[in-house]
Amino acid sequence: MPDLKQELLNELHLKLKLDVEGIDYEPEVICDFAGYFGILKRLNLPSFDPSLLDRLQLPIGITLPYGTDVGAIPVKGSDYSIAKEDGALLLKERGRLIAEVALTPQPEWIDKFTSDGTPMYEVGFSSSGNSQDKSIIFAYSTECSVKEKNETCLFCCLNGNSVLKQGASLWRNPLQIAETSKAAYDEGYSHLTITGGFVPERRELDYYLDTAEKIQEAIGRKDFNGSACIGAPVDLDVIEKYKEAGFSSIAFNTEVWTKPWFEVICPGKVTECGGYDNWLNAIKRGVEVFGRGNVRSIFVAGLQPKELLLEGIEQLSEWGVVVIASPWKPYQGSPLEGHRSPTVDWHWDIQQKTAAIQRKNGLTYRDHFNSSPGRTVTMELIALEEGRLYARQKAAENEEIA
Ligand code: SF4
Repeated sequence: MPDLKQELLNELHLKLKLDVEGIDYEPEVICDFAGYFGILKRLNLPSFDPSLLDRLQLPIGITLPYGTDVGAIPVKGSDYSIAKEDGALLLKERGRLIAEVALTPQPEWIDKFTSDGTPMYEVGFSSSGNSQDKSIIFAYSTECSVKEKNETCLFCCLNGNSVLKQGASLWRNPLQIAETSKAAYDEGYSHLTITGGFVPERRELDYYLDTAEKIQEAIGRKDFNGSACIGAPVDLDVIEKYKEAGFSSIAFNTEVWTKPWFEVICPGKVTECGGYDNWLNAIKRGVEVFGRGNVRSIFVAGLQPKELLLEGIEQLSEWGVVVIASPWKPYQGSPLEGHRSPTVDWHWDIQQKTAAIQRKNGLTYRDHFNSSPGRTVTMELIALEEGRLYARQKAAENEEIA
């Protein structure tokens, strides 16, 4: 009998590997896929292989044998590849078979259009796949105004010049987001995140309030379980306005821990958001206004020594913040393009320690789902410890039996 917990842990380790290293798709496989990566084009996301541009036909993700979904970021030259043999999709590591995988089921909203004719796959993105808990993310802008002063965060690709963004529209308006939310919520989605680069003169508050109102109108209720991902406002009283507008959680991504690192890695956030101390004060005020478990902060894991990063994760967790240690991927178009992230084992250690620290501070899977833009490895590790992945496995077995 296989040790199921160990098998599930192995699968989460593989999810992490694929997230960090990406997947090199064989051309004949790509032609078969039915998904879309329209949002990647807008966001100028990853080490996207430009030769694939003329056929944005990629899956929203792949599903590993125990039901774990993995975002399927294409990276030319990755050790991991997917080939099709005798009708089966085979995941290989340097040519050696490691698992038979499936395509992550694609939501129906992805094929729909907003009332102004915009394809919804260019408005929202989701890799929720097989999970019962599904969430969608909206990036309302594809540029960040810190670009004007040459203060782009060093890991961020949003302001990069890329062939990918050519012809991609810069803005998504509140109605497009509301209509796409409605289509997703009609399909059982239950969480959304709104994010984007800074708007000139920090006018994003009006945008977020308008969008919240449109979403409430579209889905017909006040509580839409939405996260507003914003930069720290200089006037911290503004945070209450997001709560009043109907957002149930708020996110301030700290990215790196301690002031000297923040000033080097995130110069634009220093200029626009009142500096590092104000950033941390915004997080603390966020917890006062929204409550423990309803404020989220992402660290870009891999930019700093491990001990320093863990110190930040400990501190924010003690304050009741949902912390994500997102593995650093040196994206094309980011100032650190061409650099390398730490090893997968380094990242695995961080994921496991983050999950343990979060649990020690009473932060749960539900807190993570309700405030995260996607399914992270930390979230899955917490779900595993809470027994939720076993439940998913049981459901899958029962379906097979039925
Ligand atoms: S503030 Fe930094 S991380 Fe955020 S969008 Fe702008 S450049 Fe990117």
